[in-house]
Amino acid sequence: EVTNVSEVVQQVYDNFKMIHPDFTFILDDDVHQPVQAQIYRNHLEQILIILLDNAVKYTQTRKEIHLTFESDSRNVEVAVQDFGEGISQENRDRVFNRFYRVDKARSRTKGGNGLGLAIAKRLIEAYRGKITIESAVGYGSVFRISLPILSDEAARVLNEKKERAQAEANGTGIP
Ligand code: ATP
Repeated sequence: EVTNVSEVVQQVYDNFKMIHPDFTFILDDDVHQPVQAQIYRNHLEQILIILLDNAVKYTQTRKEIHLTFESDSRNVEVAVQDFGEGISQENRDRVFNRFYRVDKARSRTKGGNGLGLAIAKRLIEAYRGKITIESAVGYGSVFRISLPILSDEAARVLNEKKERAQAEANGTGIP
């Protein structure tokens, strides 16, 4: 499926702004450039929700979240930056493991299972994308995902193919 990445980023951003009025969300202006990638819209949404949910969950005081959006001829990169508690070097290698949580005692109050990031990583890698972390304890974290993009021409061809398959499936043969 061909998905407009910038549209999904804007939609998830709008939802988070609404759900968390105590946070300031800042979205890059570059997001208004449409960028197409081959990924299920739901999967991309899921990844972004996991990262934004975490940014909110692991921030106590400086409630500010920045969403940046950049693309070149090959990849699109979306970064979620928070100014929360941060993740130590040691834990950065582990947070993508299933059921791994930095502070186990807190799991009862924060209600997580340690699955979110493992799922996000599997999803993005299934589309030949990447996820990375930059973080400093006590200062905050940046989670960055990158995904190969489709040229306008490739997106058009794939969309036509999909429409033709749908027309065949509904028996009319007319896209
Ligand atoms: P859930 O399964 O509901 O997502 P979770 O948040 O514990 O629960 P992950 O999203 O996989 O699970 O995150 C794993 C651990 O990584 C968290 O428990 C937390 O310690 C740490 N972590 C994740 N995101 C951040 C962040 N933005 N800032 C600080 N720590 C984080």
